[in-house]
Order: sequence, then C-alpha cells, then structure tokens
Amino acid sequence: MVIIMKPGTGRERIEALAHELEVKGLKVGITNGVGCSILGLVGDTTNLDADDLMLHEGVERVMRVQEPYKKANRKFHPDDTVVDVAGVKIGGGNFTVIAGPCSVETEDQIIGVAQDVKKSGAKLLRGGAFKPRTSPYSFQGMGVQGLELLLKAKKATGLPIVTEIMSPRYCEIFENTVDLVQIGARNMQNFDLLKEVGKMSKPVLLKRGLANTYEEWIMSAEYIMSEGNENVILCERGIRTFETYTRNTLDVAAIPSLRRMTHLPIIVDPSHSGGAAWLVEPLTLAATAAGADGIIVEVHNDPAHALCDGKQSLTPAQFDTLMEKTVALAQFMGKQA
Ligand code: PEP
Ligand code: MN
Repeated sequence: MVIIMKPGTGRERIEALAHELEVKGLKVGITNGVGCSILGLVGDTTNLDADDLMLHEGVERVMRVQEPYKKANRKFHPDDTVVDVAGVKIGGGNFTVIAGPCSVETEDQIIGVAQDVKKSGAKLLRGGAFKPRTSPYSFQGMGVQGLELLLKAKKATGLPIVTEIMSPRYCEIFENTVDLVQIGARNMQNFDLLKEVGKMSKPVLLKRGLANTYEEWIMSAEYIMSEGNENVILCERGIRTFETYTRNTLDVAAIPSLRRMTHLPIIVDPSHSGGAAWLVEPLTLAATAAGADGIIVEVHNDPAHALCDGKQSLTPAQFDTLMEKTVALAQFMGKQA
C-alpha cells in the first residue's frame, strides 16, 4: 500500500502516521519527493482500510498495490486448488458436472432424476431442500425432509449431494448429511453464514451475488477460508444487468478473470444465468470454451409441473444431449471429462 501525503505536510505529522502503522506490524519507508512525501507500506495490509487512512490529516491519496485477499489469492498459491467432494474432484484440469432439479419434490422425482443424470455422466446430484424464493407465498422447499430424500437418492445412485444452506442454524445437520454445501447468490454476503460454514469440514459451493464484483465474491470466499475451510468452489450464475430478456446475464469473462485472481475452482450455472431451457446449451458451451471447471445444471423429470424453475429445467433426454457436446468440448479444452 502506498500513502501520498499532501504537499507541505510537516515532518512530525508524517512520522506520527508512520509510527502508528509500524505499531500495527508494518514496515514503513518514507520517500521525500519534490513537494510531497510518499509512505510505502510493506507487510500484511489486509486489515487496513484505505478510507480510514484518508481521515488522517495530511493524507492526499491511498493506493492499494496488493489485493485485500490472501488465502484465495493465486499470487500466494500458484497451483490450482482441487476440491475433493466425497471422492469427486473439482478443479485442476477436471471438468465436473453437477445436475438435478431446482428443488427436491418427491422421493420418486429425486431418485428418478438422480438415476437419469448419473447415466448421462453427472458426477454430483443437486436439489434444493431450503429454497430462497422471492415471494414468501412460493414453495419454500421441503426442508429437512428434502435432505432425507437427497440421502435416499445418494444411496440409490452413489452420487454425492449438493444443496443450499440458508441459515447457520442448519450447519450441524448439513455437516452430517450434505457433501457439498451451497451458498446461494442471495446469501453471498451473509457474513455470519459464511463464517459458520467456514467452520464446517464439508466443501462449499459459493455462488456469485446478483450484483457483486469479482473482488467482493473472492472476499466472501476469503471469509470462509479464514475460518479454516479452504475447500471453496466459485460458481458464476449470471448477474443483474439492464437486460431483461434473459433472467440474468452470464458473465463469461468471469471465468478467465477469476482464474488469474484466484486458485479456487470456477464452475458455471447456465440454468440460472439464462433462465430458459433453450439457453442452457449455448451458455454451457460458452462457459466450457472459456475454461470453466464444470457446470451445475437444473434437470427435471417434468419441467411443466416443476414446483420451481421449470422454465429453465432440461428434461433428462435434453441433458443427455447436452452432455455429449459438453464432454467433447471440455476434452478439446484439455480437461479430464
Ligand atoms: C439454485 O441453485 O437453486 C439457486 C437458488 O441459485 P442462485 O442462488 O444462483 O439463484
Ligand atoms: Mn433454481
């Protein structure tokens, strides 16, 4: 971090600021230029707030030269992180497909879809038990009963399960049942939830918030990692833009950009990105070509009667077709698929 002092700031004031920063464990180099002085800070500046420093008299400008995240930063961890989800590898050259319905509805539905997606090559089963719905009058998910049905589907197929947690009060039950804990877009900055999930031993799938920057998203991963859980997978699921034709706008550039910024795996959700079944294939292929480590896709046995997100759900047959093209492209991209 670099602090530029206002021209004419007295030596005493500059040294007092330098001393304050040294007490915090930083090394401070002072360069006296023509008209102004510059303080160069060396050390861990992650807990320094540039806006707070601006409040010191004599400070003209503060510039960060290093990102505010450490654990997720590729600079300090050049190799890709590979997250192991109950034996299924995500990241580091693997292309992994997660599929299943938006919500768990009945035992027959979840087991049937699990069997179908497994046959087509999915490695993990998704299915919401706790649903973050815009309206309190919409189907809220089956709750704990939904988790039990997911466990039955896991038993029937061997597919590890991925499902969303909405409250820290469910951490214990998720710890004992779920293989990959999903944090939904709406909770990406629910910091209490992030901290609690950071204490769990299960890997975490962190979706990007509806209107969050790459840095904010990585900072949320940092919350989880700083509590000890370093197994975080990032999921781009489309962001809010001025466009309303599609449900969200898939940010394809997020994939190569995040790849530079962090060593964590990056997967893409083409279902929530586009919001329509016919968009799932082109968005999946775009994501795969841009280097995604995998996808999470909604598949329903009867989309017309789904209790949530039927419009964007593929039928098992459509998913099977999608898999053929996607696996071929992922392999072309050098991935193990
Ligand atoms: C979901 O995966 O079902 C979901 C609610 O996704 P998002 O949090 O990305 O909206
Ligand atoms: Mn959904």
